[in-house]
Amino acid sequence: MINLDQLPQRAEKNISVRVKSAAERAVRQGHPWVFEDSIIKQSHLGNGGDLAVIYDRADNNFLAVGLYDPLSPIRIKVLQSLQPIRINQGFFADKLRAAQSKRQPLINTETTGFRLVYGESDGFPALIIDRYGNTLVLKLYTTAWIPHLKALIQALQETVIFDDLVLRLSRALQSDRLNVARLYGLGDGQQLIGDNPSGEVEFVENGLLFQADVKAGHKTGFFFDQRDNRSKARELAKGRRVLDVFSYTGGFAVYALAGGARSVTALDVSEPALETLRLNVDNNGFSVDQVDVIAADAFEGLRGLIAAKRKFNMVIVDPPAFANSRASMRNAVLAYRRLVEMALRLLAKDGVLVMASCSSRINADMFYQLVTRTAAVAGFQLDVLEKTSHALDHPIAFAEAEYLKAIFARVH
Ligand code: SAH
Repeated sequence: MINLDQLPQRAEKNISVRVKSAAERAVRQGHPWVFEDSIIKQSHLGNGGDLAVIYDRADNNFLAVGLYDPLSPIRIKVLQSLQPIRINQGFFADKLRAAQSKRQPLINTETTGFRLVYGESDGFPALIIDRYGNTLVLKLYTTAWIPHLKALIQALQETVIFDDLVLRLSRALQSDRLNVARLYGLGDGQQLIGDNPSGEVEFVENGLLFQADVKAGHKTGFFFDQRDNRSKARELAKGRRVLDVFSYTGGFAVYALAGGARSVTALDVSEPALETLRLNVDNNGFSVDQVDVIAADAFEGLRGLIAAKRKFNMVIVDPPAFANSRASMRNAVLAYRRLVEMALRLLAKDGVLVMASCSSRINADMFYQLVTRTAAVAGFQLDVLEKTSHALDHPIAFAEAEYLKAIFARVH
């Protein structure tokens, strides 16, 4: 539990800012980022989380208001453009209500776990909120939200029904450099509201039961972004021997079993994730005997399966983001290619390849080309069944919000 009154407050005085014309144009068109080198003039330095108000250079009219973030090259994270508005609990509550109603269609699909707020695209830059049944997980990617946490949490209590609220911090925010724990008493996995010492939660996705660790699991505990792809995998799984590479806690594996897969082999480097995978298989009434679990590095594990001449009728590859920086792009491309090559070699005749990428720097076209070219060079013909993008709870309001793409293909 935490006393929200102890957190720093934003300054009363807003920072007034003038930005270059290209940045003005972008903001006017709804882009939520203003980079440090776009700022021409600012009234005073200010602190993280102070409100920065951008005025049009030509007529001095209000252009936008955002969170000032001196620790990030994305110096202003826009909250609202064109219409001036007070940034307070009421403002956040309105955004939360809009985010909830956008997800209404999902709530009717036997799904109690989903992303309630997806950052900028829902009006909350550098912040996400995932719902796991009655537990909300709030993940921060900037310290600029800290002075607004109290208003945000009160807005959540006003608009959303929940029991528990857990805080997660991005890797940068967990670093010693930012010292969030020491300065503010905030920590990754901290319970902000409610009481659940273990962090274990249960939720339902398309009628299937899952367990997640919202305090120590990857991201916020589960990867809701793949929900629609998992459904498609379920539709294609009947009678197949399925290999789930980068299985994590078994999202795809459980759907494959639900779709009538003959067997599932799950490969992941994380032992705790594979422990939860076994639980998730069992909790849905499937036998753990149907699942072969391999705890290993994916590349090594795949080499081992190839050496053992194993064959599958469906191979799902859902790697972590290999390309988070421009510098890592080249290695990422090599890694994706290698995964496609190995997956193809493990497929039996008329097998199905499901290949996903969550690297935002590799765009969808690049990725599809990479997959089809790699296959062609290796002598395989791909019959593309579907190319997919984001699910409803991960709306794409500006180009950089798009990161997930997947390709489903029958292989000859
Ligand atoms: N398909 C999953 C999500 C995958 S997330 C789902 O639907 O829920 C990516 C996974 O890759 C994580 O579980 C992580 O443990 C695993 N991982 C990361 N690097 C790895 C490596 N080198 N070898 C094997 N697994 C790895």
